[in-house]
Amino acid sequence: MGNNERRVALVTGASRGIGRAIAKRLASDGHHVVLVARDQSRLDEVLSEIEADGGVGESRACDLGDPASLEAMMESVLSDRGRLDVLVNNAGINRDGLILRMSDEDFDEVLAVNLRATFITCRAVARSMMRGRWGRIINISSVTGLVGNPGQANYAAAKAGMVGMTKTLAKELGSKGITANVVAPGFIETDMTEAMSSEILAEAAKRLPLRRLGRPEEIAHAVAYLASEDAGYVTGQVLTVDGGMVC
Ligand code: NAP
Repeated sequence: MGNNERRVALVTGASRGIGRAIAKRLASDGHHVVLVARDQSRLDEVLSEIEADGGVGESRACDLGDPASLEAMMESVLSDRGRLDVLVNNAGINRDGLILRMSDEDFDEVLAVNLRATFITCRAVARSMMRGRWGRIINISSVTGLVGNPGQANYAAAKAGMVGMTKTLAKELGSKGITANVVAPGFIETDMTEAMSSEILAEAAKRLPLRRLGRPEEIAHAVAYLASEDAGYVTGQVLTVDGGMVC
């Protein structure tokens, strides 16, 4: 890769929270970042912040729950940019409820956005990465996918599914210079955790070895490492960034 050629990194769920921090970090590390989420105006705000810091990128509004739009968006990015080098599947939703009360719709929606969209984006980038004989796939799962959590059967199934899929991709694509890894966050301060009561969060933080919630930037550091040249011999791994919750 020539000095003037930037690697292209696509980050889903880049309009807020962890995805926003990942996109900003990859931009500051020199990537051209493609920001994906539904809310175009919030994506454009993040893009402006990136550009103000001297970074480059573009935004693409897309509903990851709609496979046809997602495939069309991926095709359009690949044809406009010519390739994708780094893929970060970060967008995620939860629709919590105990199993007896969980509806089919809540199960399907969580699986569609968190797991099926990850499958579609990975399939879409595989050929381009294989052609370039270099690629980094980083899927953002959750500690819930590793140990389960009451009220999150749908979310845990999707997040555990991401782990199995990523390990499979590591095995399928490794010979082409492509790595695939998972980052599994614990409690991170974002809109997703803001929806929980502050007492529950404070209680959860007290039980952690590091005694505090994590920051989105702390997930971005892990992603930046896995996206880097330095992580070229790391594949099929789950990097848990959770203040010691699962250890
Ligand atoms: P967040 O603040 O709720 O942000 C979610 C992001 O996903 C937003 O950018 C949202 O953008 C996007 N998104 C949601 N549904 C989408 C859809 N249908 N199509 C396209 N984009 C969609 O979440 P977060 O806390 O940053 O979490 C990011 C990831 O980390 C998720 O996968 C989550 O499961 C995982 N995680 C978070 C925590 C935590 O404590 N925060 C812990 C473990 C794992 P729009 O609304 O604009 O579409």
